[in-house]
Amino acid sequence: MTSDSIPAKFKPYTRQTISQSPQWALLPEELREAVQVVSRVMPFRTNQYVMDELIDWTNVPDDPIYRLTFPHQDMLSASDYTNLKELVLVKKDEAAIEEAVRHIRLSMNPHPAGQLTHNVPFMDGQPVRGLQHKYKETVLFFPSAGQTCHAYCTFCFRWPQFVGMDDLKFDARESNELVAYLKLHPEVTDVLITGGDPLIMNTRSLAGYIEPLLVPELSHIQNIRIGTKSVAYWPQRFVTDKDSDDLLRLFEKVVAAGKNLAIMGHYNHPAELRTPIAQRAVKRIVSSGATLRMQAPLIRHINEDPKGWAELWTTGVRLGAIPYYMFVERDTGPSHYFQLPLARAYEIFQAAYQSVSGLARTVRGPSMSAFPGKVVVDGIVTIAGEKVFALQLLQARNPDWVRRPFYAKFDPGATWLHDLVPAFGEKKFFFEADHHDAPRKTLQLVARQTGRYVPGSSEEPSRAVAAEA
Ligand SMILES: *Cc1c(COP(=O)(O)O)cnc(C)c1O
Repeated sequence: MTSDSIPAKFKPYTRQTISQSPQWALLPEELREAVQVVSRVMPFRTNQYVMDELIDWTNVPDDPIYRLTFPHQDMLSASDYTNLKELVLVKKDEAAIEEAVRHIRLSMNPHPAGQLTHNVPFMDGQPVRGLQHKYKETVLFFPSAGQTCHAYCTFCFRWPQFVGMDDLKFDARESNELVAYLKLHPEVTDVLITGGDPLIMNTRSLAGYIEPLLVPELSHIQNIRIGTKSVAYWPQRFVTDKDSDDLLRLFEKVVAAGKNLAIMGHYNHPAELRTPIAQRAVKRIVSSGATLRMQAPLIRHINEDPKGWAELWTTGVRLGAIPYYMFVERDTGPSHYFQLPLARAYEIFQAAYQSVSGLARTVRGPSMSAFPGKVVVDGIVTIAGEKVFALQLLQARNPDWVRRPFYAKFDPGATWLHDLVPAFGEKKFFFEADHHDAPRKTLQLVARQTGRYVPGSSEEPSRAVAAEA
């Protein structure tokens, strides 16, 4: 399509409406079936821009952006797929479908790391809704109005959040609680507004959350970050939406108040940055005085090619964005479909990193967001005759752990920290000794809220829990 025909009005498609899209007729029957069946389990949402400009329909189903946004048969086990297909397409029995879907979801580790229960801070003895505070300097804020996205990524670790989620009103009470919490925490320098996608909100709602952070009592807040996929799935948000100029003015206002407005842009694939409008979005963000960083997980079938990462980072750098993290895919949802061994992730990272200039080597990875912190694989080496992974924490719940090299036995099949064991005959990793610092209360809360038995929750988390976030 030419840039003149780029959709200007946001038009999402879901399981219920996808058959009305112009591209539906291009899909072979088998792929349509897969969408109808698998989207019962994984939330499915895409939009006309993604379909017109990012997906190459002559290359479906292998096209990476198709894989990134459309449910695929192999995301379920063969037996789950066959059973569910029978229920959805033949029996059409809604009660039985619901029961089967519930069962499949529970088998997919829907709350890796107790995402919604760990790291929730307390104020006056009460958990503060919508906040996570794991690393001393950065508080995560999940405004309830920002808990959906312009399209959903099939690998998303927050997928259970989207099942039945669509309440997009600004909530003044949430904003007040955030401000009250931050006033009590002078050690916090960064607020990361995340979701879902906060930029699903209109500018007025977003300003309702951001402007209160500019008061003099919060002078310790230096960076207001916004985590967003809109740079890729709906760059119109910064260019042609009716309040996109207002959005950029809001960024300017934050900058004028002496703070950094940092867009944490989620880019998975270079195709997302090839369209003229995506490039204009980067230019407009940067020219508002905001900064833009690029981060994404490494996902099998989607971005395994080091050349793709190199293109993404070098294009980004040329336009003014800063490569930030390459993450390891988490152990949730159809992770069997998406995950890659850590050894392979390291090779891909290294191949991409060695092919770009120093300006793009601000990127770090491959990094796992695990319970102790962000663990990066630095390399694979042989030390004293033992082949090992060299690792370190880039971020940790205990700041003393950051940047201490440590080693795990090399394991070609390991895909996550919980698969690794210490090298050189050590019994545990150095940070495991210190787990009593994980608040007992949090672990008990996890056990209570997830109904999961957490071994040793009165003392320290089990190895399995400790390996999660
Ligand atoms: C990654 C992350 C952050 C931010 O870490 P930076 O390294 O400062 O970008 C904050 N909180 C949590 C829970 C995270 O996973």
